[in-house]
Amino acid sequence: MHEMGIAMEIIKIVTDSIPKHLKNPKVEKINLKVGKLAAVVPESLRFCFEVVSQNTPAEGALLHIEEIPVNAMCQSCSYSWTAIEPVFICEKCNSGSVDLLTGRELDIVSIEVEEDG
Ligand SMILES: [Zn+2]
Repeated sequence: MHEMGIAMEIIKIVTDSIPKHLKNPKVEKINLKVGKLAAVVPESLRFCFEVVSQNTPAEGALLHIEEIPVNAMCQSCSYSWTAIEPVFICEKCNSGSVDLLTGRELDIVSIEVEEDG
């Protein structure tokens, strides 16, 4: 599953970024930005994250996923619009030269860590 690899990558980045001086770090929340084109199903990612975060400081952390829509721009007529699905044809002039400006993001925006006990 695609999401399993992503969840493992998130755990790695998160555990690497926990300040070393914390004795019992506990990750409370992870804020993510996921583009619609990243082909990530939030429910699957949450499920995979729960599985791979066991016995790590990120166990039980809340995964906050912000979905980023697809912003497309036509190279022929410069028309730009927001799409729910990946688009490859201009809505206005039917040109096939469409740039996808956003939607591929898969970023960890911030991590909230607390010291336990
Ligand atoms: Zn166009």
